[in-house]
Amino acid sequence: MTNAKRPPKHPMDAVAALPAHRYLHVIAQDPSVRQSGTKKGPILMAKIAVPAEDLIPGPIGYRVQVVDYDSTTRRFNGAHDLPDSLAAEPPEWAKGDTKIVDDFRFHAQNVYALVMKTLARFEFALGRRVGWSFRTHQLKVSPHGMLDANAFYNPSAEGLVFGYFPGASGDTVYTCLSHDIVVHETTHALIDALRERYLDPSSPDQAAFHEGFADLIAILSVFSQPEMVRMLLAPPTKVGGAAALMDKDEVTVDALKTSALFGLAKQMGQEVQGSRGGPLRQSATLEADPKLLETPLFLEPHRRGEVLVASVLRGFIAVWAERIQDLGVPDQRTYGVARVAEQGAEIADALATMWIRALDYMPPVHIEFGDALSAALTADTEVRPDDSRFNLREHMRRAFHAYGIEPPKSADPATGTWRHAPGGLNYDRVRFESMRSDKDEIFRFLWENRDDLEVELRGGGFTEVLSVRPCVRVGPDGFTLRETVAEYYQVARLTPEELERKGIAVPRGYLQALREEQKGAAERKARVKARGLEADGAALPGEGASSEEDDDSTAVTPVYGGGVLIFDEYGRLKFHVHNDVFHGSRQARRLTYLWESGQLEPGLRGGRFQAARLSTLHRLRALDARRVPAEGW
Ligand SMILES: [Zn+2]
Repeated sequence: MTNAKRPPKHPMDAVAALPAHRYLHVIAQDPSVRQSGTKKGPILMAKIAVPAEDLIPGPIGYRVQVVDYDSTTRRFNGAHDLPDSLAAEPPEWAKGDTKIVDDFRFHAQNVYALVMKTLARFEFALGRRVGWSFRTHQLKVSPHGMLDANAFYNPSAEGLVFGYFPGASGDTVYTCLSHDIVVHETTHALIDALRERYLDPSSPDQAAFHEGFADLIAILSVFSQPEMVRMLLAPPTKVGGAAALMDKDEVTVDALKTSALFGLAKQMGQEVQGSRGGPLRQSATLEADPKLLETPLFLEPHRRGEVLVASVLRGFIAVWAERIQDLGVPDQRTYGVARVAEQGAEIADALATMWIRALDYMPPVHIEFGDALSAALTADTEVRPDDSRFNLREHMRRAFHAYGIEPPKSADPATGTWRHAPGGLNYDRVRFESMRSDKDEIFRFLWENRDDLEVELRGGGFTEVLSVRPCVRVGPDGFTLRETVAEYYQVARLTPEELERKGIAVPRGYLQALREEQKGAAERKARVKARGLEADGAALPGEGASSEEDDDSTAVTPVYGGGVLIFDEYGRLKFHVHNDVFHGSRQARRLTYLWESGQLEPGLRGGRFQAARLSTLHRLRALDARRVPAEGW
């Protein structure tokens, strides 16, 4: 069939004629979640909007490229040609016919739509285009990439890989059909694009952040589908279909927690149990306890990440219950299910936006949960000053407090938001227009104001401005906020004497091990040199000990720092959120944790860190969950 379009008369006509969005069907959670709320019947589907674009078979679009290659069987499953509209979809897709579980063309649509939806959610929240962490524009997505109960983001391969495996029932389970898994992996890719240093070893919180945040956006994404929430609140199991009304006792905090949160937890990940379902379910049901983060079990990154998710979900339920009460009249006895579900989905969506925006207000290195909370509160206050409708910020603070997470001391104690940048900064020597895009101009601004901003730009450190991004954020009611966000990064390599001078106390065991390594290296070098003299200077230039190695004979330990600068639309600095490279107590705490957890090693070239890879983290998590079946999931 030819699909010839009439050429537009004027280029602008084409722009006006093209719709900005298109709708597609996806599986609401995973194939085990059925419309009936039981294990039988059609799969629960959802209709979602993604940015409209001209797709070519793959499908391949401007930001996502589905490549259906299986590295286990070394088989290419073909380029899938997606229906070009909702009406052109095979009818069984909308119906949720279980046949779609084996339809690879549908798999391609499901994974494409959810990756694009997540990208669009980030771009909307941040008010700008978000590139991937690599140089090219398209993320490569393999829906059936390997035979394994796993899925991961691989930055060096510029893509997401989704595995498949034989399930408990004997049928094949496809991770590309799980809403939460696809959004989770896409979120890893987006955090990596926005905060490339968050994969570095730093603190227990930072290790937990990538996983926790990816789970958080995944679960809020599942909850922002009204179809899903409606099914959880009133599954149509009774004769006569789903109830249309809910009793007032069914919309309290406890009731919503049981029906929606625990209900989803019970349903989700039944198929992918042992790989990803378990942890998400644990997050949904984790009881509040301010001492939780101090217990040894919750030092493990995945368990710790659950606390971040649990805090936000606690706030979500509180906001939702309050909103339902506010909408009713006094002594109202029943509430419409559809309305309650829509409210829940809307609040989940608002929270996802709030938390994605928060990324811009988080320090570029060494994130801790308290910083993340202040970043969310600040980002939200800026774009949505009037919070009377949902009271989101107050509920977030209370929920985090219940899990022992408080804004850091550097935040405003009354509101929990970041304090404003100091007044009296010097703007005379920088150009406003250049500050919106030019890294050198931002560095100049830092240089001119280094004392007021308390940024150490001398003293052996190295500072680099990583990015400058202008953004236009749209709040509810069309309120727009223009900001420019710049990030800088700092590294210093310090000798034991310099560490001491800067007040950065390091564990004695580490220093001792570092000195021994250095002593050994110096002795080996002396022996090589002696042999070289015997051979009458036979070594060619460039061979043997280079000048670089000479420098390394001093035992140095790298420390990192950095900050984010948020400018208003007139180019004035509003916020400066930073972790100073020479901050004695914070750096000391970090080095001690890394040394004690085996992530800091003394080496010939000074101290070095052991970085964990996301794919390894996921595999460990999968194995771990399978090893603990006693948890009852
Ligand atoms: Zn992950």
